[in-house]
Amino acid sequence: MSTEPKCSKPACDKFTAINELAKRRGFFWPSFEIYGGSGGFVTYGPLGTRLKQNVEAKLRELFVKKIGIYEMESSVIAPGKVFEASGHVDHFKEPMVECQNCHTRFRADHLLEEKGISSAEAEKMTLEEIAQEIERHGIVCPDCGGKFGEPQRYLTMFQTTIGPYSGAVGYGRPEAAQNIFVEFNRLYTAARERLPFGCIQIGHALRNEISPRQGLIRLREFTIADLEFFFDPEDPCCNMIKEVENEVLPILLCDTRLKECEDTTDLTVRQALDQKVIRSEWQAFFMAMAKRLLTELGVPASKQRFIEKLTWEKAHYSTQSFDQEVLVDRWGWVEVSGHAYRTDYDLGCHMKASGVDMTVYKEYANPVEKEELTLKPIMAKLGPVYKGDAGKVAAILANVPAQEVADVMQKDGSYMAGNYQVFPEQVDISRRKTIVRGTRFIPHVVEPSFGSDRLFYVTLEYAYGVKDDRVVLSFPRSIAPIQVGVYPLMGKDGLDIKAKEVQNLLACEGFMVDYDETGSIGRRYARADEAGVQLGITIDYDTLNDGTVTIRDRDSWQQIRTAIKDLPVQLHKYFEGKLNFEHFGDIIKA
Ligand code: AMP
Repeated sequence: MSTEPKCSKPACDKFTAINELAKRRGFFWPSFEIYGGSGGFVTYGPLGTRLKQNVEAKLRELFVKKIGIYEMESSVIAPGKVFEASGHVDHFKEPMVECQNCHTRFRADHLLEEKGISSAEAEKMTLEEIAQEIERHGIVCPDCGGKFGEPQRYLTMFQTTIGPYSGAVGYGRPEAAQNIFVEFNRLYTAARERLPFGCIQIGHALRNEISPRQGLIRLREFTIADLEFFFDPEDPCCNMIKEVENEVLPILLCDTRLKECEDTTDLTVRQALDQKVIRSEWQAFFMAMAKRLLTELGVPASKQRFIEKLTWEKAHYSTQSFDQEVLVDRWGWVEVSGHAYRTDYDLGCHMKASGVDMTVYKEYANPVEKEELTLKPIMAKLGPVYKGDAGKVAAILANVPAQEVADVMQKDGSYMAGNYQVFPEQVDISRRKTIVRGTRFIPHVVEPSFGSDRLFYVTLEYAYGVKDDRVVLSFPRSIAPIQVGVYPLMGKDGLDIKAKEVQNLLACEGFMVDYDETGSIGRRYARADEAGVQLGITIDYDTLNDGTVTIRDRDSWQQIRTAIKDLPVQLHKYFEGKLNFEHFGDIIKA
């Protein structure tokens, strides 16, 4: 479950400024505006769509390409059985109160948080305790001042019917993970029946949030990236742990949280594992990778932390959970990814509910010799006693472990097979040696789960800066939605034609290029800075004579002169991080 951000700052902060800029420049805006809007839905515009793709590309680069995680794509709607089996129908609920006057509904725990009751405390409360706290603090409807009714637990999954059959209940998935679990057998085959392996699904998730009022942070439809990593619990070592062992994870530990303290403890991945703060090597590995991801998106390490979830805060499927949080201007610490050790919970649930075997077979390195107790009914002895029922007695005995029968007989002198009393002389219980070559087991799972929209928002917030009263979005080089802007000094005298040639050249090289000839060059630079365009290339009259152009850097506003013919090689190196701006050519203006 996500940590709810708290509003503490006045209206004109970065959040407001970013939302205003986002609308104006086409990053994102609330959906369905012409019909008055509908809370919790957002539309990404041209710049936002690209930025979001780049954020997700970074996630894919680090998790799919570097680690070799598989990817899959499945449906957003699932039959009710899936979420009944997974426990979501029973557990995916939030406490809610409704104003008796205006009938607006609010998350009860969020209202309590505004009165200084931590989310950890609120999450543990029963509905009666919540009602008492609301009463004690005199909490009334923030919209109209009305009194609240009794708190209820509200199922935040969207429910629908599949096809025209009202009985065929379906749910919009609140997470992408269940698709991966229900397809485990096929994915395991695709993974050539080998553990460990992981599979990620990046796609839309639906949560009917009670009061989504935090822009991209809390949406009713959002993009989730759920990565399920399957491993053998008897072979839990991560073969890539060395690569991240020295990464420092600032962790707000349960013990510290229980003392109402917010101090984080800096632990390297190695220390966290040795001290058993993180129980699974794979989980520690993914947490370190998550920190790298956020750092590459432009969030400094000092603005990131992991928070260990208390027993009652953890999702129903998890034995150990950490949330990765980022500090943002308006909302304080906001969860951007959740890290849960889901053990064999989900596969176990689906196996039980569907009746389909989801275990995997493991061959032992050395076959083991086992002694087994076997039981054979002696029909010649059972027959005369039980006559026509003797077959029934034998069938009952066949389904009981021989050891159990032997133990009971030793203790009581006989065994009750249903209503039939069986004596030792009526059965043959003997020891038999067998060679066991392997075993079947349910794989364990650790899950990092990212919210794309929150990653997007923090990327935008950490890129946001003001220079000389102008907004500059200083995205990391690999994230900028537009890599190069091409600007003819004037839209005439052949400068425009040359500029389009340069645009075409760079587009064919695979760069994301934007052409702009409207307004003064100064205004164009300002527009480009606000859109986070990394480099600006200006075509002037000298270009027509000597084939050189001016390149301007978004962040330093430095300008350099270089030849068009060198641009492809230089720009490739630059965007791959192998060449700095100063090395393009001679700096011509500070
Ligand atoms: P959870 O399963 O609640 O841990 O959510 C996984 C991730 O999804 C969180 O770390 C968030 O980044 C993101 N997330 C959860 N709920 C929302 C929401 N309502 N709107 C946007 N992102 C969300």
